[in-house]
Amino acid sequence: MSNHPRAPCFTEVSLNKFLRITANLRYLAMLENRQMRHLFIVLLLLGGWTACTSTQEDTFTDVAASVSEVERPAYALALHGGAGVIKRANMTKAYEAEVREVLAKALVIGEDVLKAGQPAEQAVIAVISYLEDMPQFNAGKGAVFTYEGTNELDASIMRGKDLSAGAVSGVTGVKHPIQLAEKVMDESVHVMLSGEGAQTFAKEHGLAIVEPGYFRTERRYDSWKKARAKADAKPQMSENGKFGTVGCVAMDKQGHLAAGTSTGGMTLKRWGRIGDAPIIGAGTYADDRSCAVSATGHGEYFIRYAVAHDVSARMLYGNKTLEEAGDEVIYAELKKAGGDGGIITVDKNGKIHMPFNTAGMYRGFVTPSKRGVAIFDDENL
Ligand code: ASP
Repeated sequence: MSNHPRAPCFTEVSLNKFLRITANLRYLAMLENRQMRHLFIVLLLLGGWTACTSTQEDTFTDVAASVSEVERPAYALALHGGAGVIKRANMTKAYEAEVREVLAKALVIGEDVLKAGQPAEQAVIAVISYLEDMPQFNAGKGAVFTYEGTNELDASIMRGKDLSAGAVSGVTGVKHPIQLAEKVMDESVHVMLSGEGAQTFAKEHGLAIVEPGYFRTERRYDSWKKARAKADAKPQMSENGKFGTVGCVAMDKQGHLAAGTSTGGMTLKRWGRIGDAPIIGAGTYADDRSCAVSATGHGEYFIRYAVAHDVSARMLYGNKTLEEAGDEVIYAELKKAGGDGGIITVDKNGKIHMPFNTAGMYRGFVTPSKRGVAIFDDENL
């Protein structure tokens, strides 16, 4: 199924021009005043000259203007690197520049996949695999620590074409959990695998396995030590009120959607706690009929409010636009409930919307004609 608007064929363009010319000639014949006739002829010639100097693309755009999906880009992609108390005052200029550079590079990686005509989920996997390698984010290398001082990773991916999905939770030695989620989606009869079993499945499918120590960064370890030292040590956002989960949504050249999310979860999580990131419908969802969504925030709220699916459902059953659906869920439902976080979304027309109810969200987007990266809430993308 392709959702792309049908480009008008050349016959349609010619017919359209012919109709316009005959209408003009009829009007000319009706004019009795000589001066008016001359003025009209001059205007016609001017109009003709403009039409001749315009490109064929302009002509097609003109004719296709009545097609409602005319503004849909050939592809679209958005990504996030977590939301939370992300303020200028809490961040050095150097760190800010570093994060922006990584986000911009991730956009290029995803865009290259889409430009090459590859499916949306391949762009999502490429972007998230890259971000899982980047220590700035709470996914893969640089993941937060559990109460016991280990790293337990969660990830999920979903394809909007056929609602196929794969997810993993509590994995400790898989370098790229998002790639494991893809294997679960495409090479198992299940949707979600966890812990040791997921790890065995990863080995059997030839994925890169690393020693648990690979995920450790000193920055995260220090945060863990400080958090753990407190008498009332309980699960918290990854660092100083920042979530650092990564996610990506994309629409490919065939008009198909995909979404993916990867995380280390929350600092000091224990008892095998699982957040929203690997839960289809909470942290990740994609349906070609509506939109693709990836979330970041306080996972327990995103699970209870089935955030990612709720955005899609509001579009599908409530005829809401992407903006309306996303804003209702993030600014009304979640905010009211006390759930901090945000989402990145792309709809079937390649429209992107990235609402969040926190001070900031690491985010970026790219289409053939526009791109942008932002961190704080006063930056408009
Ligand atoms: N949503 C993630 C979780 O609750 C945390 C995050 O977004 O950083 O596990």
